[in-house]
Amino acid sequence: MAKNRTIIHLECKGCGMKNYSKRVSKKRVYGKLGLSKYCSKCRKHSDHKETK
Ligand SMILES: [Zn+2]
Repeated sequence: MAKNRTIIHLECKGCGMKNYSKRVSKKRVYGKLGLSKYCSKCRKHSDHKETK
């Protein structure tokens, strides 16, 4: 397991559900990326932001 990796979560901006997680490098800029992902609570694609 690489030490310079961390797990972030993608949180729905609509309802706050953390629907996705992924491993990223710790060196990358955090919180800049917004993604359109499917949210099972909203039952549609919505903007997701990175959170811990
Ligand atoms: Zn949602």
